Amino acid sequence: MDILADLLSSRCFLCKGKGKFICPKCLSKFEPSIQKCIVCENFSENGVTHPLCKIANPNSPDVYLSLFEYNFIAAKVLKMSKYPPYYFYLLRFLILNYYPKLDSFSFFACPIPISANKMYEREFNQSEIITNALFDATGILEISILNRNRDSIPLYLLDKIQRKRELKNIFKINSLKFFADFFGYKNVLVVDDLKTTGETIFQAVSTLKKHGFNNISAFSLFTT
Ligand SMILES: [Zn+2]
Ligand SMILES: [Zn+2]
Repeated sequence: MDILADLLSSRCFLCKGKGKFICPKCLSKFEPSIQKCIVCENFSENGVTHPLCKIANPNSPDVYLSLFEYNFIAAKVLKMSKYPPYYFYLLRFLILNYYPKLDSFSFFACPIPISANKMYEREFNQSEIITNALFDATGILEISILNRNRDSIPLYLLDKIQRKRELKNIFKINSLKFFADFFGYKNVLVVDDLKTTGETIFQAVSTLKKHGFNNISAFSLFTT
């Protein structure tokens, strides 16, 4: 498959039917997310973490937003963007068309990092693609202040408790924190492609809090 040819064509990437990138028929198969509290997963206006849930889980973000439910079409988009032929433009397309309303002036965006090994294999981080698109859509600046300490076992093989153990202290702050400090940014938006149990986000929040960030929100393109 030739990516350039596909980019220039007016064929839908998903069904090869008529339409640029994603045709209206495929677009209609994405289900907009209902905003929920990331801790108890019950409805919450604008994705705000309930005050009692925040006490129960001090590593929860203040607000968690997502765009779409993780269904078969979301799975297809993620697969096509993460593995050859690396159609990550699909992630970008979704963000540019459906981005969330963000307070982009007081927050900076920090993508969930992948390990150095994975970066070497894949040459890009899909959360960073999403963060870049968010910048183009909303003007929110990216400062990638998190690194990953190690590879993890593929998370889909693990249950909730195993994930928690596997992800514990998986992130560390890198030297780009200097820029966040320099610009006086205290508020962080953690960005991921897919949220499942929320443990990855909780671990990112935990690391950020240890380094003095107190106002932390999170966003993922897809949610289970
Ligand atoms: Zn289509
Ligand atoms: Zn709650």
